[in-house]
Amino acid sequence: MNGRRVVVIGGGHAGLSVIKALAGKGFDVVLVERRENLVFRPGLTFVAAGLRRPEELLLGLDGVDRFGARLVKGEAIRVDPGERVVVLSDGSRLGYDYLVLAVGGEPWDGGVPGLRIVNLNPWSLEGAAALAEKLRVLPAGARVVVGAFKPPYPCPPAPFELAGLLAAVSRGRFRTTMVFFEEKPLPKLGREVSGALEDLLARLEVEFLGGFTLDEVDVKGKALLGSHGRQGFDVLALVPPFRPPRLLAESGLSPEGSWPVVEPWRGFRHPRYDDVYIVGDAAMPGLGAPMSGFLAGHSARAAAKAIAGDESSPGRAYAECFIDVLVDGVAAYCDFTDLIYSGGGPHCHVIAEGGLAGAYKRGYEAWWRDSIAPPQT
Ligand SMILES: Cc1cc2nc3c(=O)[nH]c(=O)nc-3n(C[C@H](O)[C@H](O)[C@H](O)COP(=O)(O)OP(=O)(O)OC[C@H]3O[C@@H](n4cnc5c(N)ncnc54)[C@H](O)[C@@H]3O)c2cc1C
Repeated sequence: MNGRRVVVIGGGHAGLSVIKALAGKGFDVVLVERRENLVFRPGLTFVAAGLRRPEELLLGLDGVDRFGARLVKGEAIRVDPGERVVVLSDGSRLGYDYLVLAVGGEPWDGGVPGLRIVNLNPWSLEGAAALAEKLRVLPAGARVVVGAFKPPYPCPPAPFELAGLLAAVSRGRFRTTMVFFEEKPLPKLGREVSGALEDLLARLEVEFLGGFTLDEVDVKGKALLGSHGRQGFDVLALVPPFRPPRLLAESGLSPEGSWPVVEPWRGFRHPRYDDVYIVGDAAMPGLGAPMSGFLAGHSARAAAKAIAGDESSPGRAYAECFIDVLVDGVAAYCDFTDLIYSGGGPHCHVIAEGGLAGAYKRGYEAWWRDSIAPPQT
């Protein structure tokens, strides 16, 4: 034991990856997590489509002790970076030598009146389960509206999987419309990936409304009001935009309402505090990069190396995304190294189409359960 304490706030993909990367390096590692369970989030679309049960995605966190970390269940409400202290909601205080903020982002309504009242957030386990329940009893001919109206949100291509899965399971019983804030599917990922997503929706007969902006939701009249006039719905399940967790602004680590901008070449370190690192979904929007499990892993490894004084490279900052629509789908690979480290563009291509995309996704889940989730007792 080298006697130095690393406090990691947030036990999602990023926080767990930090802990694993520091295992056996002699640090006193403490994980602070407010939730009881870890969720395999890429499975949410399958829960929403009624193809998986919510419990299948839940894993316990107690096994982090096998990675040499101590779990503190609770919410961090403030960090005092000058004093090197984390304050928890029960009033207790945790001192640190190094702090890793792996706190993700917070969903909100994007300031759209009415949205919160009727929208089922498919990026939460509760929202996905409620959507599946509604779809089960939906009358024939009903209209289900999904999609995303404002970035950022985790895994930009995943709303296409949700739209495709709903179309696949409906077998013509209900209509699926996808609204999206960009004219075409994710043009920044390049023509190959964008075109593959567009073709997928066309094959599944999903109506696509691109360039969509949302001003208001007419709750009583069940309609979206915005760029495309009045769009009626029977069920609404839009992916909400995410905003920076309040903890960051309240601790003076980012301006109110802004994402922090970290220094990736110094292990995703905070520009003002040398002993504070911000990784995963909380760090990506400030760098113009997508919220992604792969990038969460990359940033976590980079932070752990910096803390351990290991100057070797954390490797390329790449991400893969799997759009599994049962017998159809798209799997894409993007290298974000230039984007994150030197402000260049992403380099993306399609790695699988059709049913093979599902095999990639199942492989990813098996790897995640084996390598990211703590051992289950
Ligand atoms: C449907 C879907 C499909 C996806 N598919 C892919 C894919 O194919 N490929 C890919 O790369 N990525 C994918 N992702 C994205 C990936 O899941 C996320 O990018 C990743 O989980 C982010 O991990 P994180 O640890 O940064 O954040 P989170 O998972 O959000 O974890 C943050 C944790 O911090 C905790 N926390 C926050 N604040 C506090 C506090 N104050 N005190 C204590 N605890 C706190 C939270 O409870 C949470 O557990 C997908 C996501 C979704 C929703």
